[in-house]
This record gives sequence, structure tokens and C-alpha cells, in this order.
Amino acid sequence: MARIPKVAVIRGDGIGGDVTDAALTITAAALDAVGATGFTCDNIEAGAACFQRTGKDIEPGGEERAGSADAIFLGAIGLPSIRHPDGTEISPHLRLRDRFQLYAGVRPVRAYPNAPQRLADPRAADLDLVIIRESTEGLFYSAAVHDRSPVEGDPAAPSAVSDIMRISADTTRKLHEFAFRLAARRGRRGKRARLTCVDKANVFKSQAFFRSIFDEVSTFHPDIETGYNYVDAMALDMVRQPWEFDVMVMENMFGDILSDLAGGLVGGMGMAACGEIGDDNALFQPAHGSAPDIAGRDMANPLAAILSGAMMLDYLAARCGLPAYEAAAARIEDAITAGFAANELRPMEFGGDMGTIAMTDAVLARLHRTE
Ligand code: ATP
Repeated sequence: MARIPKVAVIRGDGIGGDVTDAALTITAAALDAVGATGFTCDNIEAGAACFQRTGKDIEPGGEERAGSADAIFLGAIGLPSIRHPDGTEISPHLRLRDRFQLYAGVRPVRAYPNAPQRLADPRAADLDLVIIRESTEGLFYSAAVHDRSPVEGDPAAPSAVSDIMRISADTTRKLHEFAFRLAARRGRRGKRARLTCVDKANVFKSQAFFRSIFDEVSTFHPDIETGYNYVDAMALDMVRQPWEFDVMVMENMFGDILSDLAGGLVGGMGMAACGEIGDDNALFQPAHGSAPDIAGRDMANPLAAILSGAMMLDYLAARCGLPAYEAAAARIEDAITAGFAANELRPMEFGGDMGTIAMTDAVLARLHRTE
């Protein structure tokens, strides 16, 4: 039964608040344009500034409230100047990923007309791929949440420190299932539906295990064309022939690195949208950080956040039985494509003249024009 979704909103630090405002403005306008009732918001304070002010990285009860919402929207978290005593940055979002098992980090990479294309080959103009980054284990398993890194020698002055690459059967099976379903969905929308397993199976036993589960899951999806690539070769191919790929699935750290590279191919971090999806919860956020160098200066490109907002509408459509939400998501993507084509979107990030507010207004104007 359809119902009004509730979204937990964490504005966070730096440019997080500005790009969150942009995403909420545009998602509300797109829902209005398709005649759908908007979602309600539950604002939760979290991040480095919150930690500095209160000694907690998220307000009391905030995690539980985030977990009871239909989706979480997060601007950006962390400030290099505010750290834990061990030197690590404030990162409650890593805990949210872990607590709600948001294993599938979905990072679409699309070229838009008139946005910078770093590759001269004309095929780069049609770039449209998705990186799925496992987001709860892999080489990030030891980071912040599970501090199980072996330390040799005196903990105060170690002689060696190791981080663990953890690949579990359960999570990997769910991850690959998710990847095959996403590839199939893209196939239904007229795209190529090819899934590549990116790993380092020739060197690490954890990575050979990752690939063996990919093979096992692939037997249930005979319609999806599959392939493999070692992560180092993938980095090369991402620059040499990214148009040969559609959906790519990989462990956490490989995905962290390759998605920044892929974001760079189609402009910069201000274009990099992200959804982190689990079985029962999902968090949407731009893939960029809080960018303190440009915070408070109306310079941030809000499109990564706006596109993450569109992904959230797509997710809420399925979760809450609201097909109009899917239509609103498509409206946003169309408005951004048309806006770039008409040269109405000129973010400062690419040397243009438009800051966060001007960019948001331009997307809004385009949304209204295509009504
Ligand atoms: P994190 O580790 O939290 O992802 P980071 O240290 O990698 O963060 P970002 O905050 O993503 O760094 O910023 C990296 C660079 O990209 C900075 O120079 C920043 O100004 C730029 N940048 C990031 N996001 C945007 C944006 N939305 N618009 C314009 N520039 C951005």
C-alpha cells in the first residue's frame, strides 16, 4: 500500500548542508511536477561540527531514528581539522553503513553534453556505467568500526600494522545478486546489461573467493553477459575504453578508488552520485566529501547531491509502492541532461560561472519548463 515516505536528513559538515538544501529543493519540485505528495523529513544532527560541539558524532537517538526512516539522505561528513585522538576523522556514516548493512554502494557514472569530457575519443560522450562498491567489509572492514587490525610490537610505537581484507560469503552473495538485478534492470531500460566482476583473484585468496561467488550467482542469471577484470587492468581500461563496460562490481577499497577515477572522467566529484543500499535500509549521498576548501562560498556543484536525491526517489518508489516517485526521478535526470545540452548548467567546478544556488535555480527552471 502506498504511503508517505519518511526521510532522515543528515546535512553534516562543510558543503554538506548547501548540497542537501539543493537536493531537497529539487526532489520536492519534481514530486510536485508529477503530482505526488512529498516525503516528510526528520533532521538529524551528525558530523564533525556536532562532535566538536557536543562530544558525540551523532545526536542521541539519531541512529535509531535514521534506521526507522524509509531512507537516509546525507550531505557530507568530516572536517580534517576535527579528529579523534588517534588521528582518524569523525565518521558516523561508516557506523550507519555497518549497523544497517548497506552493502551495495551504487555509483552511476554518466557523461552529460557540454560537461567536461576528459577523454578525446567521441565514444566518451555516451559514457553511462555503474560501479557497485561493496560498502561494509573488504579492505575497509578494519577501518573505524571494527578495529581488528593486528598491531605488532608496542601499541604506542608499533613495528608493523596490518589491515584486513574481509570477504564474507553472505554479503558477497547478496552483493552479486544485487549487481545482477541492477544489470537486468538496465537491460530492461534498453541498456547493454553486461556485468563485470572486478577483483584481484590472481593474487589474493579473498579475491578468488569473491570471484567464485560471482560465478555461483551468475548461473542463476543466464541472460546477463558477464566478464572479469583485474582491478589494475580495470584502472587502465577505465581510461582506455570505459565505453566497453556497463555495471562493475567490486570490493570496498577498489570501488572507492575506481569510482573517483570514473567521476573524474565525466567532470569531477560534484557529478558523483551515490546510493548505499541494504536489505532493509538505504542511504543516499553525493560521493564527494565536505570540501572544506570551498565550504560556505556558494561554489559547490550540487548535481551529485541532486542526482543522489533522484536515486533516492527511485528507491522510495519501489519501497513504498509509489510509481510517481520513479517518474519524478526520471524528470530530474531529464532536466539535468536537457539543462547541460542547452548550456544552462555551468558549474564553477568546471570553470563555469554558476555556484550552488544558481545551479539549483537552473535545474528548477528546467524542471518547470519540461512540465
Ligand atoms: P572524503 O574523504 O570525505 O571523500 P575528500 O578529502 O576526498 O573527502 P572532497 O571533500 O570530496 O575530498 O573534495 C575533494 C576535492 O574535490 C576538493 O578540492 C573539493 O573542493 C572538490 N569537490 C568536492 N566536491 C565538490 C563539489 N560538490 N563541487 C565542487 N568541488 C567539489
